[in-house]
Amino acid sequence: MTQNLIEKSKACLWLPFTQMKDYEKDPLILESGDGIKVRDIDGKEYYDGFSSVWLNVHGHRKKELDEAIKKQLEKIAHSTLLGMTNVPATELAEKLIDISPEGLKRVFYSDSGATAMEIALKMAFQYWANKGRPEKQKFVSMLNGYHGDTIGAVSVGAIELFHRVYGPLMFKGFKAPVPYVYRSKSGDPDVCREECLNELEQVLAKRHKEIAALSIESMVQGASGMIVMPEGFLSGVRKLCTKYDVLMIVDEVATGFGRTGKMFACEHEGVQPDIMAVGKGITGGYLPIAATITTEAVYREFYDDYQNMKTFFHGHSYTGNQLGCAVALENLRLFESEKIVDQVAQKAVELKSILEELQKLRHVGEIRQLGFMCGIELVESKETKEPFPAEKRVGYEVSLKMRELGMLTRPLGDTIVFMPPLVSTVEDLEAMAAIIKEAIHEVTHALA
Ligand SMILES: *Cc1c(COP(=O)(O)O)cnc(C)c1O
Repeated sequence: MTQNLIEKSKACLWLPFTQMKDYEKDPLILESGDGIKVRDIDGKEYYDGFSSVWLNVHGHRKKELDEAIKKQLEKIAHSTLLGMTNVPATELAEKLIDISPEGLKRVFYSDSGATAMEIALKMAFQYWANKGRPEKQKFVSMLNGYHGDTIGAVSVGAIELFHRVYGPLMFKGFKAPVPYVYRSKSGDPDVCREECLNELEQVLAKRHKEIAALSIESMVQGASGMIVMPEGFLSGVRKLCTKYDVLMIVDEVATGFGRTGKMFACEHEGVQPDIMAVGKGITGGYLPIAATITTEAVYREFYDDYQNMKTFFHGHSYTGNQLGCAVALENLRLFESEKIVDQVAQKAVELKSILEELQKLRHVGEIRQLGFMCGIELVESKETKEPFPAEKRVGYEVSLKMRELGMLTRPLGDTIVFMPPLVSTVEDLEAMAAIIKEAIHEVTHALA
């Protein structure tokens, strides 16, 4: 039966972000999970070291979340949000506004981080058109940014490896750098921040009349390698957006819902976005719900008599799904009752010292961390920061070794991702870090 399923998976499936030739060599089929562990069809257990791709909060099969879905199922699974609403979507909207940064007052639902970003872009674009300033059509986005895989989100993204081939499909815009202190000339966070802010200001000063909005990940550029922004950068970007009358779209899809030790990462800098995209942790990692949350000022530009054609003509079949909103509501209740955000902030301090142990390894270049969002960048030489040759696929090999040792994660190039479920205890974190250490040691040792 096990072998049969594996054959079926090889014969029928095409997996996301996966070279299927790799999958055929090392297939894996998960069947169940409990707490912070998942289990494959042979019964082998793994720590969920990347929260099932940055989603999971309370662990798997959390009783309250399971119950919330069952309770909702006794009423209805789904109904549309086109021209009407439902009970959990309405209650969740109020709750989201409650916990969002000041000024964010309207919730527009969708079903993934990428769609939440598409909506943010179209919303910003139409906002200026509705306002009578249709010349503001362009976007400024960040080098090394990632906002999802649909064409709009890719257009404001900038990760060579993922995006290069789609160049001709993308809409054109302006790009500005985000500090990557470890790989900067000066190596100094303050210098690095000021250089990047200056570059951004040059673009804005020259072109702001044609710029609708700026898009940026919040505090950490996730997909490009868990690159943590130096203090003062995000708030500096906020100031420039205000100065040049450009909407600020903050992507909290990865960082939102406690991941960085605040409910939303922009709280680290007291930043109030004009539009905020959320997804991933919103349902505790259970169901596909996402949201784009904006200010009353943006909303008001769409509010008019129908004949004036200011309606936002956008929606998805499963927008506001009742099961998803019900579990998201329960998720947020658990955030309160279990004080998840404070817990993450506290445990993050201990996680930092646990990870310091890894810094001693010969090929660990830099460890980056904000809360429970960590990246461990592996390099050929610590002294020169020379990367490993890409064809050695060191990050990938380390993740395979970790799988063997009982932990799942996916690397970003040669940066090992460590993003455990937010309920992981200090003992869990230690156990997972020990696996990371052993895997890095074994793989890099074999290379030397
Ligand atoms: C994962 C991610 C997205 C895309 O979310 P999906 O649900 O995978 O479409 C967008 N932005 C950031 C910062 C992300 O990490």
